[in-house]
Parts: sequence; structure tokens; C-alpha cells
Amino acid sequence: MLLVAITLTNNLATTYWEENLMRIPLFGRGKMDAAVDPVCSMDVNIKSPPGGTHQHGDQTYYFCGPGCRIAFSKEPEAYLSGEKKINM
Ligand SMILES: [Zn+2]
Repeated sequence: MLLVAITLTNNLATTYWEENLMRIPLFGRGKMDAAVDPVCSMDVNIKSPPGGTHQHGDQTYYFCGPGCRIAFSKEPEAYLSGEKKINM
């Protein structure tokens, strides 16, 4: 019974540790891996942009979601000039 209890505790501890480890890349990193979504001005992790990327000119833009990427791909100039902006 004691062995079972220890195993259970270890499993719980490992799960807790893994959960926290998962959160570190999202909140613990500096701004180095982040780019600003040109549509909504949100910070986007360039290593795994939730909305993917869009190449415009010689620049790559990163998006918080597919909606922003599609909006930008239709009218990149409008968003880059600041003429259009979505506030979230
Ligand atoms: Zn966005």
C-alpha cells in the first residue's frame, strides 16, 4: 500500500511539473521570439505563430490567428500604413 501511495504521489508531482514546464515557453520567455501582429498589434510567438505567417515584400509577418492573416493577405498595404486596424 505504501508503495502505491508513493507511486501516485510521484505521478502527481511529475504531471504538475510537466504542466508548469509547458507554460514556461509561453510566459517565461523574453520578447526575443515575439513579433507584432500587424493587424491587431498582439505579440505573436514567431516559433509557433497561431495564425501562421504571410510573406509580403521581403518581410515575413506573423499572426495571432487565421482571421488576422487572411485580413492582412487581402490588404497588406492598408494594415502596414496604419490605415486599417483591428482593436481587440
Ligand atoms: Zn491578430
